[in-house]
Amino acid sequence: MSLPTAAHVRQQFLDFFASKGHHIVPSAPLVVKDDPTLLFINSGMAPFKDYFLGNRPAPFKRIADTQKCLRVSGKHNDLEEVGYDTYHHTMFEMLGNWSFGDYFKKDAIAWAWELLTDVFKLEKDRLYVTYFEGDKGDGLGPDAETQALWRQYTTDDRILPGNKKDNFWEMGDTGPCGPCTEIHVDLRTAEERAAKPGHELVNADHPQVVEVWNNVFMEFQRLADKSLIKLPAQSVDTGMGFERLMMAVSGVRSNYDTDVFQPLIQFIAKEVGIEYHGTSPATVNDQPATENEKTDIAIRVLADHIRAIAFTIADGQLPSNVKAGYVIRRILRRAVRYAFSSLNQKQPFLYKLVPVLADQMAGIFPELKAQQAFVTRVIEEEEIAFLKTLETGLRRLDALEEAARANGGVIDGATAFELSDTFGFPLDLTALIAREKGLTVDEAGFQQALAQQKNRSRNAQETEQSDWVTVADAEGPNVFVGYDQDEATARLLRYRK
Ligand code: ATP
Ligand code: MG
Ligand code: MG
Ligand code: MG
Repeated sequence: MSLPTAAHVRQQFLDFFASKGHHIVPSAPLVVKDDPTLLFINSGMAPFKDYFLGNRPAPFKRIADTQKCLRVSGKHNDLEEVGYDTYHHTMFEMLGNWSFGDYFKKDAIAWAWELLTDVFKLEKDRLYVTYFEGDKGDGLGPDAETQALWRQYTTDDRILPGNKKDNFWEMGDTGPCGPCTEIHVDLRTAEERAAKPGHELVNADHPQVVEVWNNVFMEFQRLADKSLIKLPAQSVDTGMGFERLMMAVSGVRSNYDTDVFQPLIQFIAKEVGIEYHGTSPATVNDQPATENEKTDIAIRVLADHIRAIAFTIADGQLPSNVKAGYVIRRILRRAVRYAFSSLNQKQPFLYKLVPVLADQMAGIFPELKAQQAFVTRVIEEEEIAFLKTLETGLRRLDALEEAARANGGVIDGATAFELSDTFGFPLDLTALIAREKGLTVDEAGFQQALAQQKNRSRNAQETEQSDWVTVADAEGPNVFVGYDQDEATARLLRYRK
């Protein structure tokens, strides 16, 4: 069976909303430079925050796009899941359609259903939808309007109430908020579905019954005293995971089995000479039980992490020891360690994936292709630097295992700090390796050791170098000209030859 291509499916989404009067805009860069509350864009809504807050007027009443997102820090952090499960990524695309004070629940629901069932031809009885069950504290009853709208399209056993955590969205402690309706798809086989009804598995972390689309209806404003008032104009904010949509339209059991990831996976498998066996549904979410599962996880981690690493560098964030730069360094080191330990790559490897990814994404995110040589070089240099200490650090961790077991299964904070300081093991990498050994890390102890070191070196470094690195002249005649911001949206990173 040939897989639907990512380019085609993405375009179908954009064309559909263009046909419903939406303006199609490019993705904003992943890296956020002017918002103290956010390091990376983590949802399709984030670049439009100002419109919803009323700080700036929206340039169009209807917008649709695909937005690069990263969920590796802060409020949304899915890093631990990546590679173990088959539907959370570090970097992913969020497809979105927006109404800024224009259409509301009725159209949003009608179009979501039309797109999934008419355009993408998903089987109706595989779809489950949720609505907000209400919240006494906020004096809100169930979102009966949404429930009634769904009844036009599907049956009651597929329309499920959901709690505040899953079905009520708030921008922050104060600000716009409202109920949401989420759409889940059941991709199990007929036998599996006969054995257990899908509605029992919605929001239950089942790898084949996954949430694909969240439609948020912003109708309230949360005030500082926690009360809610009705907004003068109602808005819609939606986010659909593109890689999950690809899994659904391809009829496969894992995001990694789609055209989004297959070119990378096949390249990795060939280069390392280890076959990718695909998803073993019984074991995702768990520690690998067999050698095949172990190498499969590593291959998935590499195929995932290279996207986060390459696109953040292309969007202007180099790996470093502070803030957003350290987030990228951590992801890169996590990937290097998987390549090293599970796929036997003792030399730099990740950088070889950049051309594959750049070619694959050139049509929609040309910023990577435009900087391919530079991004490749940055990654290779990071790999070389980390590989110098990785092996020694891993041996040190092995040697510590016994002491940790004697210590109640805990790697103490001072040791975790030494691994970070001397061998460049970020805390979460030490925690990951510990988890594989059935150990934990004393994270509070680590923070204490870190604080002590910071005190010692406070005077040594008067000024901290900025996080933002301009890559002028990095590729000979190319000159970085920065982001071209206009009223509509942040434009793609541009290079001038
Ligand atoms: P989940 O419950 O699966 O973690 P979520 O509720 O955190 O998802 P939302 O914040 O509602 O996700 O984001 C909208 C959509 O983005 C989700 O319905 C899903 O399809 C997709 N999505 C969210 N997180 C990820 C991720 N880490 N990788 C890939 N897609 C994601
Ligand atoms: Mg989540
Ligand atoms: Mg969810
Ligand atoms: Mg959600």
